[in-house]
Amino acid sequence: MRLSRSFLPTLRETPKEAEIVSHRLMLRAGLIRQQSAGIYSWLPLGQKVLSNIQRIVREEQDRAGAVEILMPTLQSADLWRESGRYDDYGKEMLRIQDRQEREMLYGPTNEEMVTDIFRSYVRSYKELPLNLYHIQWKFRDELRPRFGVMRGREFLMKDAYSFDIDEASARRAYNRMFVAYLRTFDRLGVKAIPMRADSGPIGGDATHEFIVLASTGESAVFLDKAALDTPVPGDDIDFYGDLTPIVAAWTEKYAATEEMHDKAVFEALPEENRVEARGIEVGQVFYFGTKYSEPMGAKVTGPDGVEHAVHMGSYGIGVSRLVAAIIEASHDEAGIIWPESIAPYKVGLINLKVGDAATDLACDQLYERLTKAGIEVLYDDVEGRAGAKFATMDLIGLPWQLIVGPKGLERGEVELKQRATGDRESISVDAAVAKLLGSS
Ligand code: ATP
Ligand code: MG
Repeated sequence: MRLSRSFLPTLRETPKEAEIVSHRLMLRAGLIRQQSAGIYSWLPLGQKVLSNIQRIVREEQDRAGAVEILMPTLQSADLWRESGRYDDYGKEMLRIQDRQEREMLYGPTNEEMVTDIFRSYVRSYKELPLNLYHIQWKFRDELRPRFGVMRGREFLMKDAYSFDIDEASARRAYNRMFVAYLRTFDRLGVKAIPMRADSGPIGGDATHEFIVLASTGESAVFLDKAALDTPVPGDDIDFYGDLTPIVAAWTEKYAATEEMHDKAVFEALPEENRVEARGIEVGQVFYFGTKYSEPMGAKVTGPDGVEHAVHMGSYGIGVSRLVAAIIEASHDEAGIIWPESIAPYKVGLINLKVGDAATDLACDQLYERLTKAGIEVLYDDVEGRAGAKFATMDLIGLPWQLIVGPKGLERGEVELKQRATGDRESISVDAAVAKLLGSS
């Protein structure tokens, strides 16, 4: 993408309303624009990161055997009356009436709707296990929307729902999502630790929150340092094999949010292993048995010929919150440092002397070569001071900067800078291209 043809509205001033670094950087780098309290437009750079995150989330859901669907944002109140949650949900639910005066709502989550889909089609245990997921906007009228997309009112969530014949197979479904989450967050370049969590209004007895450690996190967390070094399974993992040893390796090390904190257990750890920190919840996995299937009549015939209410779980990932969480975990004074897997572009190509024939030609050729090789390049082809160009590239945090100016070109060289380390080297054009093609 040529900067001259793009739309990258960066801000010079630090916006006053933003209290935490990710919110400040998202506004300054032109990722989002607030439209109402807790409701945002996604500008081109933000939209690219958001869709890169969705791609990875989707790949790992698919790998773990979940099947993608898309349910609407608007739901009928009647469905929620069946589960009893229409009255329970309270003011967080945005309730709407259509022109026929039918009661509708903007979905804060989808257990009821997916249970309705399930009961309409599935009759036999032979069609199980089944896990249906979607990536869709949710609305929760949060009392205090804040920190930008970290706690929005409208936000993008991946939510998956598993259906099984009995508790034992539902626990295997839970483990598949647990492992998929380990892999997803790892690929997104963040360390998210599964922690024992309170089951809250959804209810149920098995749940973990996946939490990214960050000083600005909303929850206090307590963990055994060993949890930070537990390995994440590779892409050869067999999701239908025995996943219990992997889940056990993570869950047997102490890690809990404040609500579930057990001081005695924590204090029994060697002192150097006790980590007290703050964290951001980026995902949660729940097993809640027949809480919805029972009242809503989601039953299948088992091998015994008898009808059983299905055992369910739900599994959320805060897709839009992750953009902010990743920035909280990966930035410096100059700006964002995107992990390569989700960066909006891999390379920022900086033309230091727009209008100089040799520099323009070298940049155009580099842009062409890299783009043809499948590398996403943001090409700064706009006239401006070198200092301002560098500052903008640092702010928006692309993994690599390729800096091209007349002086270097006289020696046949360009400069390649790695954003994360700040390392720069002057190398030939061919060497720079080779290095960018080689790095993953
Ligand atoms: P929280 O405790 O932060 O309010 P929650 O536990 O109510 O979140 P879940 O129902 O578990 O949220 O939703 C799944 C995921 O969606 C959460 O793990 C979180 O990452 C994300 N999420 C929840 N609420 C918001 C919000 N208001 N803004 C952005 N993301 C959110
Ligand atoms: Mg949660």
